Amino acid sequence: MPAAVLDAQSAHAAGVQRLLASYRALPATAPIRLAKPTSNLFRTRTKTGAAGLDTSGLTGVIAVDVEGRTADVAGMCTYDDLVAETLRYGLAPLVVPQLKTITLGGAVTGLGIESTSFRSGLPHESVLELDILTGGGEMLTASPGENAALYRAFPNSYGTLGYATRLRIELEPVKPFVALTHVRFHTLADLMTTLESILATGRLDGAAVDYLDGVVFAPDESYLCVGRQTSAPGPVSDYTGQQVYYRSLRHANGATHDRLTLHDYFWRWDTDWFWCSEAFGAQHPLIRRIWPRRYRNSRTYGKLMKIEQRFQIGDRIEKLRGRPPRERVVQDVEVPTTRCVEFLDWFLSSVPITPIWLCPLRLRDDDRWPLYPIRPEQNYLNVGFWSTVPVGRTPGEMNRRIERKVGELDGHKSLYSDSYYSRAEFDELYGGDVYRAVKKRYDPDSRLLDLYSKAVQRR
Ligand SMILES: Cc1cc2nc3c(=O)[nH]c(=O)nc-3n(C[C@H](O)[C@H](O)[C@H](O)COP(=O)(O)OP(=O)(O)OC[C@H]3O[C@@H](n4cnc5c(N)ncnc54)[C@H](O)[C@@H]3O)c2cc1C
Repeated sequence: MPAAVLDAQSAHAAGVQRLLASYRALPATAPIRLAKPTSNLFRTRTKTGAAGLDTSGLTGVIAVDVEGRTADVAGMCTYDDLVAETLRYGLAPLVVPQLKTITLGGAVTGLGIESTSFRSGLPHESVLELDILTGGGEMLTASPGENAALYRAFPNSYGTLGYATRLRIELEPVKPFVALTHVRFHTLADLMTTLESILATGRLDGAAVDYLDGVVFAPDESYLCVGRQTSAPGPVSDYTGQQVYYRSLRHANGATHDRLTLHDYFWRWDTDWFWCSEAFGAQHPLIRRIWPRRYRNSRTYGKLMKIEQRFQIGDRIEKLRGRPPRERVVQDVEVPTTRCVEFLDWFLSSVPITPIWLCPLRLRDDDRWPLYPIRPEQNYLNVGFWSTVPVGRTPGEMNRRIERKVGELDGHKSLYSDSYYSRAEFDELYGGDVYRAVKKRYDPDSRLLDLYSKAVQRR
């Protein structure tokens, strides 16, 4: 075995030992949580007093098997670091979430998604096996054949069953560039017709599609962004400078074309946190010129947002202007494609938020993921919206209306942000009985929070 691989493996083993030592240093009944420098959770959490486990040695890629097209990756490795390593071998994870600081463990336990999800499903579907430190303190390997119930319940468990320390994932060969076609639509029905046709054939205008997402700016202005891998050399755009990616999509009619390196394509949404950097002034030409390039990324905006939340800066400004405080509406929901026009029409007339991100999704094979039971034979569209609206009469009014609408349309909601379901509704939607059985087996003393407490009660 090459010396570098041996070094990475012994570094990983030492990292696992540090994690275990920090677990064992706690009193046997103490609640636990991860001590992690970054997070993409949007739920405001109440302080639990839980002690943080040492994850500092679990941030790297352990080994890439180029022949077998797999990688062994530590649980808290960010996709930024993971992709940097696999691209050296002309390989990439099957789904690369858009934000650089999302970790592999976080995306698998919290359901990442991206523009390959129409052909490669969700990140957990390309996990072959994973090592987990359970709430009960066992270090186990889970796979379809070993601790299978834990393997299946892990996606969407948000760290309430245990923490992934190593994941073996599938990789796919990739080419160095992505040729992009941004197709403009004047009605959402037309967009959905084209989207369904790509999902059915894997092609647009006869050519295979590798990447597919989209943006809605208004009912009469929406786009599908179709990407195709290519090795053909040629000029590429750079949206880490003065230009802003999402603005580059907009045009009057037909289609426009663009090219990015694959690396820049993966991180096209990170530089401006989709479009959310506008809230910090980062898209203003003057401010952008002086805003250091190294701070134009989701990591920086995430920190700024936490400061904003802590000091309620936005609400204070609204108050000074004589306006009500605002309700945060930061959500990703999955709606069956057959009901999407209905959902988008309702959303655009009821929720004052644009742009909206679209990302089609189809599970790869069977429906063995009980905590997020979407149907494998059904195409879904992930609809993402991340902003605020004026507060209503009751707390979370708009979020609750959205939850109800998504439920009516047989959709499903991600749990990384605010949720308001009753316990019974939540159990029905997120595999309550299966979850309880697995929780009892792998976290018998409830050292980790329960999923409902974490996702809805924001503990
Ligand atoms: C504005 C916004 C946009 C988003 N957009 C996307 C998107 O476009 N694509 C996408 O894929 N995802 C998106 N997400 C969701 C994101 O993928 C999930 O929130 C994911 O869980 C974040 O991973 P993280 O590594 O940052 O984990 P954290 O935010 O640190 O943690 C998330 C949860 O996972 C648990 N956890 C973390 N690491 C592990 C581990 N190793 N083992 C077990 N549990 C663990 C934590 O306890 C916590 O409950 C978005 C989130 C936000 C807020």
